[in-house]
Amino acid sequence: MGWIVSDASSFEWWGGLKTAHEITISAFLVQMTRWESVVKVINKLREKQLNKIENLSKLSVEDLEKEIRSINFYKTKARRLKAFADKVAEEGGLENFLKIEKRPILLSMEGIGEETADSLLLFAGNNVIFPQSEYLRRVMSRVLGKKLTKSGAKQIVEEKLNKDLFEYKLFHAGIVSIGKAFCYTNNPNCDKCFLKPVCRKYNYETL
Ligand code: SF4
Repeated sequence: MGWIVSDASSFEWWGGLKTAHEITISAFLVQMTRWESVVKVINKLREKQLNKIENLSKLSVEDLEKEIRSINFYKTKARRLKAFADKVAEEGGLENFLKIEKRPILLSMEGIGEETADSLLLFAGNNVIFPQSEYLRRVMSRVLGKKLTKSGAKQIVEEKLNKDLFEYKLFHAGIVSIGKAFCYTNNPNCDKCFLKPVCRKYNYETL
């Protein structure tokens, strides 16, 4: 998925998708699946006006499976998406559900870990919360030259950045992009990475 730098509250950051509903649906579909396949399914759902979580809750799991059949592990994902859509309907809609105070409920849903929950809260709910991730841990550890945990790296970001929606989205998108493009687990491509002037691993061979 590519990140599109946009207005602070725009949904387009998330690979150009149009709504909080589409971001949320894509978060379920994308696990172990190519983004291009996810976009195709989202476009198909949009044409049928099934690109809303509440509308998905009206489908049976079997019907949902048919809609997302081209996606890897579609049966598991249909079951998870249906359970999520039912919960959202019960909670009074997606806008009500994607709030920081609902984070424990989000985390209790099958298929939603901390990174997905916080990414949804930030990019679909426009809450100022920073998602932890393996990319964040790896890039920050190498740049700062200290072994960090995911939550430790997240804490540093939250202390250093302004508590601002645009800054949080931009920093998350930047870190994930650097992690994917240059900062591989093994043999990072430091020569091409634009963080090399400030990176302790590159300059001092730490970590
Ligand atoms: S310079 Fe190398 S180690 Fe440092 S962040 Fe970039 S890719 Fe990672």
